[in-house]
Amino acid sequence: MGLYVQKFGGTSVGSPDRIRAVAERIAATQRQGHHVIAVVSAMAGETDRLLRLGRELAGQPIDREMDVLVSSGEQVSSALLSITLNHMGIQARSMMGFQARILTDNVHTKARIARIDADRLKEALGTHDVVVVAGFQGTDADGNITTLGRGGTDTSAVAIAAASNADVCEIYTDVDGVYTADPNICPSARKLDCISYEEMLELASLGAKVLQIRSVELAMKYGVRVHVRSSFSDAEGTMVTGEEEALESVVVAGVTTDRNAVKVTMRSVPDQPGMVANVFEPLAEANVSVDMIIQNISKDQATDLTFTVTRDDADRIGDLTERIASDIGASGVVIDNEVVKISIVGLGMRSHAGVAARMFRLLATEGINIEAISTSEIKTSCLIHEKYAELALRTLHDGFLANESSV
Ligand code: ADP
Ligand code: ASP
Ligand code: MG
Repeated sequence: MGLYVQKFGGTSVGSPDRIRAVAERIAATQRQGHHVIAVVSAMAGETDRLLRLGRELAGQPIDREMDVLVSSGEQVSSALLSITLNHMGIQARSMMGFQARILTDNVHTKARIARIDADRLKEALGTHDVVVVAGFQGTDADGNITTLGRGGTDTSAVAIAAASNADVCEIYTDVDGVYTADPNICPSARKLDCISYEEMLELASLGAKVLQIRSVELAMKYGVRVHVRSSFSDAEGTMVTGEEEALESVVVAGVTTDRNAVKVTMRSVPDQPGMVANVFEPLAEANVSVDMIIQNISKDQATDLTFTVTRDDADRIGDLTERIASDIGASGVVIDNEVVKISIVGLGMRSHAGVAARMFRLLATEGINIEAISTSEIKTSCLIHEKYAELALRTLHDGFLANESSV
C-alpha cells in the first residue's frame, strides 16, 4: 500500500464531467489499495476571472484581499471533487490550506511555503479514504490566507508529497508530459520519458509553465519523484528525477520561449568604476530582479548598459530608472517590451563544445537578430524580437531535436 499525491490542474477540473473523470481516476488508485491525497487547482479560467474582477474595482488592489479572493477558486473545486467522491461511496474530505496546516511566509500573492504540519493530513487519512486539498493557498503565522503565485498548485502538491513522504507526486495536466518544446506551439515536439531536476528547473525558469519553478526546487531538495502526465489518458508521462536516473542524456533536452522579459537600456553611462553598482544597487533595493546584462565597449568615456527585467517589474520601474540615469549622468533610458527570450537547455551542454555557436547559426540562418545572450552550465538564452518567437522556437527545436539522432 502506497501514498499517492495526485495534483489536478485547471483544465482537468474544468467542468462537472472533468471532475467526475478525476474522481474515477482517484477511485481507481484507491481500489489498488493506495491512500490518495488529491490537490486541486481552480476550475479552468477561474483564477483569471477573479483577478479581473478585483482589478476592475481597483487598479492595484490590496494583495491581502486579492489572496482572499483568488484562493476561493480552489475552495470551490476541492469541495466539488469531495462531493463527487462521497457521492460515489468514497469517504473524502476537503481541506483548505489553513486546515492542512500549509504554513507560508506573509508575502501575499507570492508566498513561499515554510512548513507543512503533515499530522493534520495523516489524521484525516486515518478516518477518510481520500483527502482533497485546495492547492495554491496557505496561511501565514497570523492566520491570513496567502497564495503561492500563478501555477502554485504544483508547489502545494510537491510540498505535501515531501511532508507526507509520499511514494510519488503525480501532476495531472492537459498534455501527456514534459515535451522537448511547448507542444501547443511546436508541432514536432516530442514527449520525454524522463528529465532531470536540473533540466526541469531551467525549463521552468525559462518559460515552460508545465511545472511551477518552486515545485521543481522543492522536488529536487527533498528528492520527490514527480510524474507529469495527462488527466485525459492513461499513458505514462514524464518522470522528473535525479540526474543518475534521467537516462535520456542528450545534449539539448528542450527549447523554451519566455515572454516575460523586458529590455532596458541606459544610454551613455559614464565609464567609471562604481557606475554599474550605482545602477543595480537601487534596483536591488526595490526588489527588482535583473536577468541578462550587457555592457558595451565604451566610446568617448561612455557606454550603453542593457539589462532585462520581468514584465511586472518593468511596469513599476519607469521613474526609478529615470532617476538613476539622471543621478549617474547617463543620457536616458529606453524600455523595449517587444522582446522574448529563447533558450536551449540540456545537461549534455556541460560536456559538448559548440552548442551555443550552433544555436547562433540556426537563428542567423533565419535572419533573426540576437539582442542579448546569457549562458549557464546547462543553458544558453538569446533575446530576440518577439515577432520571431515562434519561428525561432521551431528552428531551434528542429535544429537540435527534430530526430534523436541529430542531437
Ligand atoms: P495546469 O492547468 O494543468 O497546471 P498549465 O497550463 O499550467 O496546466 O501547464 C500545462 C501547459 O504547459 C501545456 O498546455 C503547455 O502548453 C505548456 N507547456 C509549455 N512548455 C511545455 C513543455 N516543454 N512540455 C509540456 N508542456 C509545456
Ligand atoms: N489556480 C492558480 C492559477 O491559475 C494555481 C494553479 O492553477 O496552479 O495560477
Ligand atoms: Mg499549471
